[in-house]
Amino acid sequence: MPQKTKETPMMEQYLEYKKQYPDAFLLYRVGDFYEMFYDDAVKGSQILELTLTSRNKKADEGIPMCGVPHHAIEGYIDTLVDKGYKVAVCDQLENPADAQGKMVKRGVTRVVTPGTIMDKANQAKENNYITAITAHKDVFGLAYADLSTGEVKVTSVKNQLDLTNELQNLDTKETVVYGSFPQKYLDQLRKYGILISKLDELDDNYSFDFSQISNDQEVDTVKLLISYLIKTQMRSLDHLKPAQSYETSAYLLMDHSAQSNLELFKNIRTNKKSGTLLWLLDETKTAMGSRLLKQWLARPLISVDKLKQRQHFVQVFLDNYFQRSSFQDYLTKVYDLERLAGRVAYGTVNGRDLIQLKTSLQQVPEIKSILLDIGDDELTAFVEKIDEVADIRDLIDQAIVEEAPISVTGGGLIKEGYNDQLDQYLDASKNGKKWLATLKAKEQDETGINNLKIGYNKVFGYYIEVSRANIDKVPEDRYTRKQTLVNAERYITPELKEKESMILEAEEKSKGLEYHLFDHIRQKIKDQIRRIQALANILSQLDVLQSFAVVSEDYHYVAPEFVDKHELKITNGRHPVVEKVLSNNSYIPNDVNFDKDTDILLITGPNMSGKSTYMRQLALIVIMAQIGCFVPAESAKLPIFDHIFTRIGAADDLISGDSTFMVEMREANDALKNATENSLIIFDEIGRGTATYDGMALAQAIIEYIDKNVHAMTMFSTHYHELTELEAQLPGLKNVHVDASEENGDLVFLHKVLPGPADKSYGIHVAKLAGLPEEVLNSAGKILSSLEETSVHTTTSESIHEPAALKPVEKVKEQPEVVDTVDDDEQQLSLFPEPKPTTKKIST
Ligand code: ADP
Repeated sequence: MPQKTKETPMMEQYLEYKKQYPDAFLLYRVGDFYEMFYDDAVKGSQILELTLTSRNKKADEGIPMCGVPHHAIEGYIDTLVDKGYKVAVCDQLENPADAQGKMVKRGVTRVVTPGTIMDKANQAKENNYITAITAHKDVFGLAYADLSTGEVKVTSVKNQLDLTNELQNLDTKETVVYGSFPQKYLDQLRKYGILISKLDELDDNYSFDFSQISNDQEVDTVKLLISYLIKTQMRSLDHLKPAQSYETSAYLLMDHSAQSNLELFKNIRTNKKSGTLLWLLDETKTAMGSRLLKQWLARPLISVDKLKQRQHFVQVFLDNYFQRSSFQDYLTKVYDLERLAGRVAYGTVNGRDLIQLKTSLQQVPEIKSILLDIGDDELTAFVEKIDEVADIRDLIDQAIVEEAPISVTGGGLIKEGYNDQLDQYLDASKNGKKWLATLKAKEQDETGINNLKIGYNKVFGYYIEVSRANIDKVPEDRYTRKQTLVNAERYITPELKEKESMILEAEEKSKGLEYHLFDHIRQKIKDQIRRIQALANILSQLDVLQSFAVVSEDYHYVAPEFVDKHELKITNGRHPVVEKVLSNNSYIPNDVNFDKDTDILLITGPNMSGKSTYMRQLALIVIMAQIGCFVPAESAKLPIFDHIFTRIGAADDLISGDSTFMVEMREANDALKNATENSLIIFDEIGRGTATYDGMALAQAIIEYIDKNVHAMTMFSTHYHELTELEAQLPGLKNVHVDASEENGDLVFLHKVLPGPADKSYGIHVAKLAGLPEEVLNSAGKILSSLEETSVHTTTSESIHEPAALKPVEKVKEQPEVVDTVDDDEQQLSLFPEPKPTTKKIST
């Protein structure tokens, strides 16, 4: 910050603005550049790779400075905002020439922040949510908005974990809080890369519909959000829809780790959409449909009625192939109505956008009639609600030229016949141009100079140009020389100048009038924004439903049946994404059965056999069913689940810096505390992250706890074969295993899930597949044999001993506490024995 006490007037003005935006890069317009000073310049020059200089005006000497050309500013703003910074743009509000020696008037015209950036072409299919949170006692208010689509929602969450989850699920880049918001929560949020913007004063000077929110804290949270949006955007926000209150418990809950473990939106390895459930399901034709699909996936429903309605529409689209494909053709021509509406309200809309809006609206009558033609009552009732917004379509059609320019100030935007006055101006300028053409012919004729030209430049207007070779033919008495070029001379004549002012005046006036008319049209459309948004909403729902039909048809999915009992039966279910990426139908379908007495399926089988895939398959089928899509199975009967908990694989919480085991235990805790009998729990090898017996003890205790207290449907995969013996004691637990066989000492994965426990774990076989040296494999085989001879088997969590594996192999034989040994024939890695435990049980 400034070290000097005395600044030049310009720097004083700069500092005045900078004071108002201390947390943003202030881009300050000076001539043709936007400049940054002081710390902004030092940091900005690094981030944007600009040369850092210093002000060379005497009084300002030594002030760090860097700048970007004014026409390139958008790219630089994007870079800064992408990296999570805010930018305030300070413009010149008057022409420097008019300032008459005084300081040029300036003002901040917009503030761009990560949560409010709009119009990023590469993010058409993504929502960009800005959030606001308030804390009151132990309850958090959480509001979010997408400025580009106008969506505003608000909820209350009861603890910090749920808050973080919801924020992560929304993938918010920026959150607004009061200055008094507790610091300890903020530190946590920053860890997740969320920019925190503080606001102390609410703005009450706007109208906004709070009628659908009943609770004071939520109203307060939305006010905070809107105040911040007004402060940063400094313009109309009429497109914001009335805020809607929601309760997270009205949907199938999935915390952020479940969303990411199940790869709904992001592939864990690549961080891309490819290979995810969203990627598989997204056959939508519009960006709005794609965004809605993502929202549905993030919040599956728990209302059977609503799900049945979605299923019904999917079935209708499946049954009416021709209407569906013709509907798709029209839908493809519908642009992003939500964002177009946003740009209309925002004032950033241009002629091309309006043509896109018109083109979109032109598809609607056809879409309507195709869908009505199907003759399904429910669909008809839904489609009849569609308002074609024909008045706006016709208005644009009458007013805006088809090939509209990008600029709204340069003319060429409004159709002939739309406005009399404009027609007159256009006529005058058109006539003027005609007159110029006639003049050119006349002058060529009179002077005999065939290549005589008429041109125009900004400095001296219209001129006659004669090439050097013909200069001697120029009538000196009539032509006045204005400019000499290498190969030509340029002249003016009194006659030309007189006409020029007429033409220019008409052009000037017509441009002004066109802009005025455009603005008027924009205003008219803005008044109808709610109708356009309602249309967008219906079309995007239909888009998602047709997308479900497409995938259901392509991959042979069936409509799941919902039951209101604690039972689940899936026949020949498949993992939709693994099935799609595997070539030539090689996916092995598997059943899943939870009868009314079963809570826990304990899954054993070698590494790589398909345990994890089997469990994920169920979770994905549940999610697909609860968004209204058909599911990959021959038949499926499911209850409605309220919550999916997962502990899968190595998705370490690197951000919070916790160890894998810590994350594992935290997720287990979350499930045990919050799961109900209507929840689904997926635990993939819980306990793996610590010492063997430690882990096994925890795993067993967790299973027993679920069996006794929770009763959620639980899939639990494990390497601890000892756990399979629990089946004898826990009536709610059933063993299943994924089959594998051995051929000539090699392991063959059959990927088939069968009743009963697996016979052994085949770890050494998998190591062989991975290509470990022969010596290691042989040695491991020997160690294993001795361990198996000496291992101690237990069935209760209390009586667990130190792991034999930690003792040197030679000494193992000397261990006296061997209680029971496996049969000789089971010690060898025998060929495909009958499924039975490799270990025997000590009765306690
Ligand atoms: P585990 O959890 O037992 O180690 P995974 O579930 O990760 O095994 O499966 C390993 C691989 O086996 C998967 O990547 C997949 O390619 C394949 N696989 C799993 N289940 C099936 C199946 N039902 N049909 C065909 N291939 C499968």
